[in-house]
Amino acid sequence: MPKLNKIFLNEQKNILFEEKNKIENRLAGFAKESKIHEGEWTSNMPDFDKGTSLEEEADEVEEFGMRLALEQSMEGQLKAIDLALDKIKKGTYGVCDKCGKEIPQGRLKVYPQASFCQKCQ
Ligand SMILES: [Zn+2]
Repeated sequence: MPKLNKIFLNEQKNILFEEKNKIENRLAGFAKESKIHEGEWTSNMPDFDKGTSLEEEADEVEEFGMRLALEQSMEGQLKAIDLALDKIKKGTYGVCDKCGKEIPQGRLKVYPQASFCQKCQ
């Protein structure tokens, strides 16, 4: 069992929740969360008006591609955050997933969703 104290764990929990909110808010700006699968997002499709020129459509499609990449990266971050929150609940937070050693608090402060120690990263 890691020797992390409750105060530290609570702080980490707050940071993780804050981060989660931030990412979800950003995602909500251009994507919709699935109503069936929590944590799964779909980028809004570009909608083409009749007055849209081909050039504008090309821009939209390019932007859509970037949004998809961003959405995937943010989804990955959300999953890591959920995993960390789950570990806090189960009392396994702060332990390296690979070697089972404690992840230093300093590292957890910088990167609260870390699941590996520096060596195993
Ligand atoms: Zn490790």
